[in-house]
Amino acid sequence: MTQTKTKAKHVLADTPCIMCDELYPAARRNLGYPTCTECGDRVAAEVRSKWTVAQEYNKGNYQLITNPATLRGINPKRTT
Ligand SMILES: [Zn+2]
Repeated sequence: MTQTKTKAKHVLADTPCIMCDELYPAARRNLGYPTCTECGDRVAAEVRSKWTVAQEYNKGNYQLITNPATLRGINPKRTT
């Protein structure tokens, strides 16, 4: 008698998400993610919020900016 294999996406990882302690699909764990989908999205959004691309001075090249103070300095309408 053969038994149908459980589909991988229904199997939960043996270690819970490092952020919220909830179990999440083993398939995601196998891809190397230590978090569940929800927390993974949040982490990704946070990382993305730490950089932008802008001109550091008038007519300058567009470049990667990670320091918020630099971004404030660029603002031509700044009052301080
Ligand atoms: Zn989580």
